[in-house]
Amino acid sequence: MTRLILATRNTHKVTELRAILAAAGLDHDLVGADTYPDIPDVKETGVTFAENALLKAHALAQATGHPAIADDSGLCVDVLGGAPGIFSARWAGTHGDDRANLDLLLAQLADIDDTHRGAHFACAAALALPDGTERVVEGRLRGVLRHAPSGTGGFGYDPILQPEGETRTCAEMTPEEKNAISHRGEAFRALVPVVGELLG
Ligand code: IMP
Repeated sequence: MTRLILATRNTHKVTELRAILAAAGLDHDLVGADTYPDIPDVKETGVTFAENALLKAHALAQATGHPAIADDSGLCVDVLGGAPGIFSARWAGTHGDDRANLDLLLAQLADIDDTHRGAHFACAAALALPDGTERVVEGRLRGVLRHAPSGTGGFGYDPILQPEGETRTCAEMTPEEKNAISHRGEAFRALVPVVGELLG
């Protein structure tokens, strides 16, 4: 069985990708990066989601000698020309301060009415092999931004993104409901044929 490493310490992401691979009949030994605790995190110096996903996947494949998958994601707001984009996790200055990031974004959009509040979550998922072979795919979740947060589930900007065709925000959906339509789910599902092609 081929070992495949996912560049995350988030067990939910590992479980989600494992289920997607299994549903496609692929039985790789998928493990999270925490299986290799001595490998340092990679600096995300790319300027696109795809570049950052590839950087992380290549670094992990080189360090472990196993094929590696990495994803990079964020929120892209139409009226802000795609920002916060790759800066989503540190929009208000401190990496990972979800509440401050969300509050700053809402303040920036305060005067923007509903017709111009379109946005999407974007995710790039990359597969890299130790020999340098690489592939990258993308997924999107399109929606509109609310004027105030709603819901307690999820993370990041989930409380303000209402997906197209939904009346709830992502933070009001169950994890299963969100995974079924999410940018990350779409990108991971798009990786399935790539994994099949390159790893069998
Ligand atoms: P990462 O690629 O998982 O590091 O995500 C980068 C940042 O994008 C997160 O810190 C969030 O602010 C935002 N983000 C990415 N995916 C989601 C999502 O599914 N819901 C809410 N926020 C997200």
